[in-house]
Amino acid sequence: MIESYIQAGKIVSDIRSEASKMIKDGTLVIDLVEYVESEILKTGAEIAFPCNVSLNEIAAHYTSPANDKTLIKAGDMVKLDLGAMVDGYIADSAVTVIADGNMDEYYSQDEINLHDEIVEASAAGLEAAISTVRAGIEVSKIGAAVHEAISEYNLNPIFNLTGHSLEQNNLHAGISIPNYDNHDGYVLDEGQAIAIEPFATNGEGIVNDAPGHYIYSYIANKPFRMRNTKKVLNYIQHNHAYVPFSGRWITSEFGERRGNIALKQLSDAMAIYPYAPLREKQDCFVSQKEHTVIVEKEGCTVTTI
Ligand code: MN
Ligand code: MN
Repeated sequence: MIESYIQAGKIVSDIRSEASKMIKDGTLVIDLVEYVESEILKTGAEIAFPCNVSLNEIAAHYTSPANDKTLIKAGDMVKLDLGAMVDGYIADSAVTVIADGNMDEYYSQDEINLHDEIVEASAAGLEAAISTVRAGIEVSKIGAAVHEAISEYNLNPIFNLTGHSLEQNNLHAGISIPNYDNHDGYVLDEGQAIAIEPFATNGEGIVNDAPGHYIYSYIANKPFRMRNTKKVLNYIQHNHAYVPFSGRWITSEFGERRGNIALKQLSDAMAIYPYAPLREKQDCFVSQKEHTVIVEKEGCTVTTI
């Protein structure tokens, strides 16, 4: 089990480094996303969730739909969040990269400086969090460490986003790892796998749903009259019953029109759950940094380092 966590972590870490180099002026988001997903599959691992590439004020939960024309421009704050699974054991990691290129074409020098601080703050939050992790610690103490580190930059964490426990074939296994002291007294155990993911912003630190749905999870079987919808649900049950999947994967299998009609019907009937992209309430920029760690008696092992 530990070996699988470590193996998945190494895969994610290697692909994260390679993919980060693609984050520059003029890169299509869909090229980045498809690169990451195909590299994960090449290793023989499975994709734990669609590669998320969320720009600027979008904190999370964006992945490209089919034929996505979204372009990265120099100076954009790009969150790259990826996950791989070996024997069902998941590595989940994210990094924020300021897109390379001629930034002052799009952003003022003050903005560029602020954006660097925001990126640094989530990294500092993650570092502080990791240094507190050991068996016996309350999760609220991890959150307090994140909040304190980010506050030193005069920035806010995203209060309504959290890290999470991981279990075999289960990306969000029930325990939340907060990004502030939420007084949750849950105590971590030796051997538990958790993903810690501080987000930092110069805004209020609250995210709300933005339009569109690009990522989904299977919930339950339901009866459907339409043949196409039944077929798509059957396909999802067989291929994506445990971890989140991309609308793009469905439309590439069933075509854009049929795929999208089925996704809408399945969502309306709550056979699948549609995730909305999450946007900072004041449209302020958001950074994220995430590692997966295994809790140990006197500390933790970071699998995605
Ligand atoms: Mn993640
Ligand atoms: Mn995560």
